[in-house]
Amino acid sequence: MNAPHRNIGQDLPVIRQLDEIAVNQIAAGEVVERPASAVKELVENALDAGATRIELALKDGGKTLIRVTDDGHGMSAENLPLSLSRHATSKIDGSDLLNIHTFGFRGEALASLGAVGRLTLTSRAMGSDGAHTLSVSGGQIAPLKPAALSAGTVVELRDLFYATPARLKFLRTDRAEMQAITDVVKRLAMAEPYVGFTIRDLTGGDQGRVTFRADPETGDMFAAMGGRLRQILGTEFAQNALQIDAEREGITLTGFAALPTYSRGAATAQYLLVNGRPVRDKLLVGALRGAYSDFLSRDRHPVVALFLECDPQKVDVNVHPAKAEVRFRDPGLARGLIVSALKHALAQAGHRASTTVADATLGAFRPEPTGRIYQMDMPSQQALRSSYVAQAPGLSEAPAPFAPTSARVEEVVLDDGPQDTPLGAARAQVHENYIIAQTADGMVIVDQHAAHERLVYEKLKRQMAANGVATQALLIPEIVELSEGDAGLLLDHLPSLASFGLVIEPFGAGAVAVRETPAILGVINAEKMLRDILDEISDLGDSQTLADRIEAVLSRVACHGSIRSGRVMRGDEMNALLREMEATPHSGQCNHGRPTYVELKLADIERLFGRT
Ligand code: ADP
Ligand code: MG
Repeated sequence: MNAPHRNIGQDLPVIRQLDEIAVNQIAAGEVVERPASAVKELVENALDAGATRIELALKDGGKTLIRVTDDGHGMSAENLPLSLSRHATSKIDGSDLLNIHTFGFRGEALASLGAVGRLTLTSRAMGSDGAHTLSVSGGQIAPLKPAALSAGTVVELRDLFYATPARLKFLRTDRAEMQAITDVVKRLAMAEPYVGFTIRDLTGGDQGRVTFRADPETGDMFAAMGGRLRQILGTEFAQNALQIDAEREGITLTGFAALPTYSRGAATAQYLLVNGRPVRDKLLVGALRGAYSDFLSRDRHPVVALFLECDPQKVDVNVHPAKAEVRFRDPGLARGLIVSALKHALAQAGHRASTTVADATLGAFRPEPTGRIYQMDMPSQQALRSSYVAQAPGLSEAPAPFAPTSARVEEVVLDDGPQDTPLGAARAQVHENYIIAQTADGMVIVDQHAAHERLVYEKLKRQMAANGVATQALLIPEIVELSEGDAGLLLDHLPSLASFGLVIEPFGAGAVAVRETPAILGVINAEKMLRDILDEISDLGDSQTLADRIEAVLSRVACHGSIRSGRVMRGDEMNALLREMEATPHSGQCNHGRPTYVELKLADIERLFGRT
């Protein structure tokens, strides 16, 4: 085998000092991955310069033009050329890398951008009587010139990566790049509520179109942050978020975390800031996942805006070229704080499900804005067609009888149950799975299957915490055939499986015998449960703490014990279920983040009928 790129067997290799342009292009490889990373660096610079308004103008997803205009303190004529040289910064003196209070400190963003695109800086230093401009293109700097600008700085970056075309190939569609840019700006806007941000897309013409706008907030920090959160995440988030305020050994955690029923299909709406710096840190994202693991299936993602603050000495921000990750001196402490604070808040929320659930329900009921009248009791199209068919002569197909659906409505004697409770008094059960209850000012529809699943899970957790889960022994152990690897994986987890009531033992190669199952579940399909647990264990891998893993598995176990689906319930049973839900934390959503009930207020119902 030959190694064409190595000099083995030939002359001794020569070590060369790379020229400045090559060095900057290499550095840019790390710092500037795509237009959004350039935007991040430029907006951070504007913020570090004390800007109160920052305007972005973009073309073609930032690929051909990124212009950032700020009203910050600007740069002097002497500083302009310096700003372009590598490792030149006004933000630190290099003596203490653990005491950083600015976004920037590496002094390489402008040098990198100038090496991979056409960069023009125009700036007027605070208090000076004129502005200057300086251009650099593919690393070549043109002479400084006087310019007209009343204050602040304008940085224009054209044709990003023209000097390193290989990078161009990795760029996504303009739309995708634009979205990444907006995301970056939103994160920084979250960090700086007193600063106004505008994004203008100039692709269509010079005037362009404003695609994002966040006006400067006023008032105290709390009010300002609240306003900014609403602007970025919407009022719906505000209505469905729990306030977080916790502290542990000098680290504080504040902000908002949404109820599990207000989750997203992607991890996009997770704003995590460490000492005011937006980060996408694996440790912190893992902690979020841990905090919600109990309430969300793995394809749903919580929505949060969380601010961690601590002494800068406790967290190293100099571990990632784009400063997107940080390293806590005590990672366990930060993780533990997030997990426990969020879990606590979610527990306090009790049976609360998100208002969006009720809103979505109402939306489904509401007549469409076209003015079409919604008719209850209208036979379905299917039923109508059947009745036509019945009248049509000559069709051989046996006509389906036009009859009411087979839905059963279980009558409940109106016993004036406790309506003044949050979930009210059960009035009826429909389709053998939905409980209709009357509350003081509305009605509640409970998905008894989902609710029961949650109750079983919470009960299992309590039992396990107290004295282990009660088990029932199987008369004849059930033998489950698995692959050797899977059997081994399960046997590795014998003690934790036993702690939640599942006693298994090896049974030859690739099989296990199930001897005892959790009593609370009644009769179950042991094989199906084992396969589910295996999925859970192999999915989670070693990425989570043991406690998180146990809870995830337990939640799967609870799934198998939801016995009340499709079961007719008596009035007292239904009321008992409602009372138990009220008394059980987290009962507003099932283990997969779906709501267990929806509530319609009388006012909402009246609106449906046009009474108000
Ligand atoms: P860093 O931000 O890490 O210091 P940069 O390469 O991003 O490195 O910027 C170099 C220097 O240029 C900064 O330290 C700052 O003094 C100056 N600078 C850059 N952008 C601006 C701006 N928008 N307003 C004022 N000064 C700026
Ligand atoms: Mg910078």
